[in-house]
Amino acid sequence: MYDWTTHTHTHLGGHCSHGCVYCYVQAMGERFPEVKAKYSGPPCVLQGELTVKYGKGRTIFVEHMADLFANGVADDMIGVILDHCREFPENTFVFQSKNPARMARFIGLMPPSVILGTTIETNRPTPAVSSAPNPLDRYEALQTIRAQLKNTTAKIFVTVEALSKPRSRMKFPGFPGDGREPRGRSRS
Ligand code: SF4
Repeated sequence: MYDWTTHTHTHLGGHCSHGCVYCYVQAMGERFPEVKAKYSGPPCVLQGELTVKYGKGRTIFVEHMADLFANGVADDMIGVILDHCREFPENTFVFQSKNPARMARFIGLMPPSVILGTTIETNRPTPAVSSAPNPLDRYEALQTIRAQLKNTTAKIFVTVEALSKPRSRMKFPGFPGDGREPRGRSRS
């Protein structure tokens, strides 16, 4: 959890269609059967979570165990989750997605105070790493959102998931730092 958030909450169960190879949810699922059960299968709204009372004055990272705007999540699921968030407008809600172009379509349904972000791993296409849109496309979509919200209180952030960190080197052949970059590929 980011240290600038105060709470996390997830309404969404099922497998995230982005399938990032470094996904900590999948890694946790390998250790904890209950996590694996909760985050396997088609995306679904965990109905009991829609009754949670958020109170006020909090900064809540919503769907920190999934990607609410992944293409595998139906529009109506996103709608009911945002409806729940809007019931508690005295909080700030954090939405982070590797599909910010789709997130942009739901801005009109979001609560009044939001922090919106994405994660990028590199400036290259990452089909071997994630089924999410390419990192540069994510970044550009977020810049479009920034421009759209420039006269509001919304904040925008980008997190970099470095592929060159030690645990990544074994998993991402062909990326800088793994020592096995394909011939002919530039390091610049
Ligand atoms: S987008 Fe997030 S939740 Fe989805 S697979 Fe990637 S790391 Fe996991």
